[in-house]
Amino acid sequence: MSTTSNVRVRFAPSPTGALHIGGVRTALFNWLFARHLGGTFILRIEDTDQTRSTDESIKIILDGMKWLGLDWDEGPFRQTDRMDIYRAHVDKLMKEGKAYYCYCTPEELEARRKEAMASGRPPKYDRKCRSLTAPVPGRTPAVRFLSSDEGQTIVRDLIRGAVTFENQQLDDLIIQRSDGLPTYNFAVVVDDVTMKISHVIRGDDHLNNTPRQIQLYQAFGYEPPQFAHLPIILGSDKTKLSKRHGATAVTEYIDLGYLPEALVNYLARLGWSHGDQEIFSRQELIDTFALENVGKAPSVFNAEKLLWLNHHYIQQADHGRLARLTLDLLKKDGIVKPGADPDLAWFKKLVAILTERSHTLVEMKTGALPFIVDQITMDEKAKAKQLTPEVAPLLAELAGRLKSVEPFIHSEIEKVFSALVAEKGIKLGKLAQPVRVALTGCTVSPGIFEVIEVMGKDKVISRIEAAIQII
Ligand code: GLU
Repeated sequence: MSTTSNVRVRFAPSPTGALHIGGVRTALFNWLFARHLGGTFILRIEDTDQTRSTDESIKIILDGMKWLGLDWDEGPFRQTDRMDIYRAHVDKLMKEGKAYYCYCTPEELEARRKEAMASGRPPKYDRKCRSLTAPVPGRTPAVRFLSSDEGQTIVRDLIRGAVTFENQQLDDLIIQRSDGLPTYNFAVVVDDVTMKISHVIRGDDHLNNTPRQIQLYQAFGYEPPQFAHLPIILGSDKTKLSKRHGATAVTEYIDLGYLPEALVNYLARLGWSHGDQEIFSRQELIDTFALENVGKAPSVFNAEKLLWLNHHYIQQADHGRLARLTLDLLKKDGIVKPGADPDLAWFKKLVAILTERSHTLVEMKTGALPFIVDQITMDEKAKAKQLTPEVAPLLAELAGRLKSVEPFIHSEIEKVFSALVAEKGIKLGKLAQPVRVALTGCTVSPGIFEVIEVMGKDKVISRIEAAIQII
């Protein structure tokens, strides 16, 4: 991707678990913003919290981004590879008297925090170590930022407008822990500066961090980037979207049989709009995306709309691609054994008759099962209702006639059915439903003539004969 502007944005996940819907929406808005403006999209892994970061989670994030087609132009960078850069920046602030060593232990801090709260003072750091003139022996210090108590810091947010924070409320933030690792607020500023980030687009759970970060920019003498804080995503009960509301991780949606374009389309509309258009190709999203059209109000996650979009994209998808994806699922379940792939041209024909009824690839897989397995599982209720003694002669008659159908195609098969129901004076359903149960084990399937054609003569005859046996 060639970049033609100074717009530089980043997605900066902490690799502490799954890649969640909220994170993907942030990644997507950054990616769309960059692609719309010919800018650069950077992927930065924020792994300084070494107790919670894992390589497994990094892999999940990278795989998820690839699956979604959110390609990055630079990175993935890892903060743990950049320790020298953070240290140099800490040294700079120390030299300029803008930071100081703090020797307080977590226990001391906690005790003083409790005391402050008990006597009605705000539970901020009491700045005890600001006035120290010599090190405390036997202790390794953390480094704190010397923040200003006066005035205000105004975040001019592209979505929220101007948000004012009283500097008095802000703490002397730890920028480097006693173990030498930088803290989030510090590393993020150093990274955003050194990576020349022009716009920070992230979830608004970080809005409260922004004034602290702006103070750090000012201390370094750097121009802050522009900020855009995306509204929170809620579940259907209007509480913060979480596991309780259903699937929230990208891997879950992959396993549930969603297509990446459905998720991308759905998440793009979660907080952003372009008139009342709902369906967007990737290129349309790139062409129309603008931060001005991101709303301030929280968005409510609507699983049904996502499913509707997935159904739409399954109808649109190339049959070869759907065939491969469905086969992958059948292999994962051990139904298709390695090296025993069905003929692809045939499998594509099968996929073609299944798309209309499939909202997910998992539904597609379930629909494909009767065509793949040797032995179908009969739905007991369907069997009891449809495979009754009086239909046995009808099925036998049909099987006999189907044997001589050539070519074994939809229109020829239909002729056999029409003739038989006319002779017997019955409705088509009286024949088609028992046949459907005999062939698929259940009462719902694509059109019966299509099912028969795709299943093929041998399997159809033997299944009808097997049904007659069990009647
Ligand atoms: N690592 C932070 C997170 O995952 C990102 C913060 C940011 O974008 O500045 O929430």
